[in-house]
Amino acid sequence: FFSCLDAQKPDPLLSLIEAFASDQRPGKLDLSVGVYRDDHGRTPVMRAVKLAEERLVRDQPSKSYLGPDGDRRFAECLGELVLGRGLSGQARGIQTVGGTGALSIAAGLLGAGGVSRKIWLGTPTWSNHLPLFAAAGLPVRTYSHVDEQGGGFALDAFLAAVQQASPGDAFLLQGCGHNPTGIDPDIATWTKIGRALADRGLIPLIDLAYQGFGAGVEEDARGMRDLLGVVPEAVIAVSCNKTFGLYRDRVGALLCYGNDAAGLDLAMANARGIARCSYSMPPDHGAAVVRTILDDAGLAAIWREELDAMRNRLRATRRALAASPGADALGLGGVAGQGGMFCLLPLDGAQVERLRSRFAIFVAPDGRVNLAALPLERVGAFTEALADVALR
Ligand code: PMP
Repeated sequence: FFSCLDAQKPDPLLSLIEAFASDQRPGKLDLSVGVYRDDHGRTPVMRAVKLAEERLVRDQPSKSYLGPDGDRRFAECLGELVLGRGLSGQARGIQTVGGTGALSIAAGLLGAGGVSRKIWLGTPTWSNHLPLFAAAGLPVRTYSHVDEQGGGFALDAFLAAVQQASPGDAFLLQGCGHNPTGIDPDIATWTKIGRALADRGLIPLIDLAYQGFGAGVEEDARGMRDLLGVVPEAVIAVSCNKTFGLYRDRVGALLCYGNDAAGLDLAMANARGIARCSYSMPPDHGAAVVRTILDDAGLAAIWREELDAMRNRLRATRRALAASPGADALGLGGVAGQGGMFCLLPLDGAQVERLRSRFAIFVAPDGRVNLAALPLERVGAFTEALADVALR
């Protein structure tokens, strides 16, 4: 039967990984895939992670099954990191296979219970969002995430979408460090977003993958926490893969938030059931590492320092880009005030291709640039290359 399956287009971003690996030019620069890289182009294992791994090797008593929830203490510690002590008591969570796994289970939850719900996405958004929800059978609707000036969150477009939605529909919101635009709602706007959703009986689904890559671990969670303060229920998909540099270990959690304990129990039982039919139980190692770090004040302090250093470097890169000659014309004027790893430049396919063929600079096909992989000393060369392809 294999031959009657539909042909699949290669994922353009994943194909770039191969193209970059086989490119022989010295000084080639990969700004496409969303991983943090140091000034030598490396993505090192964080020191806190190595220390936690040493402890696990030494002390782990068993590798027997844990069950579909995965590491329960991990989900508790992560709940506190994400929601803060104040709100974490109103949430329950399970470990998932990365943020993507959390989103898939969230999609399954939204499709369960015999209620037909749509999911609303502000676009542009992470390229996996739309196919992920469509594959789960949810009707997808979109509205514009960015305002007409191109510099801020489009509250008007969001509110118009809220008016068009049917009660019970869900809205996906990225908690901070929006992928691909870097543009987040400002603090005061989060409460307005929450009230608008609550007034119409709509469900917030928050995708949090870049906590700590904007203004700080606590600061980046504030808007989302303000929203949670004004809604009765929410679902939160957390990825630890950027924040702990654990990418291939696939660490994440699904948190369900609400006031009704019986409702939360039902949500968890359903989430567990969805996980059980898919991968049964999540892989342990990465979550055990995160739990070991967050449960130990000393390791947690080392991790925070490392994350702070990554963020500060990223912010310095953003400031240098925004201060470079012709920044506004290149679409870089606003990047210093934005968060997360990415910015989205107004480049078409031919310009992206020219950056690659002429300058060995790889950016995503839609013009998304991973600033967390751009060394400060190459900012000048990067903006010159950009000017060559964008302003000619
Ligand atoms: N959400 C967003 C917005 C992302 O950018 C990513 C990673 N690119 C994820 C979720 C999922 O990440 P992972 O599955 O690696 O945890």
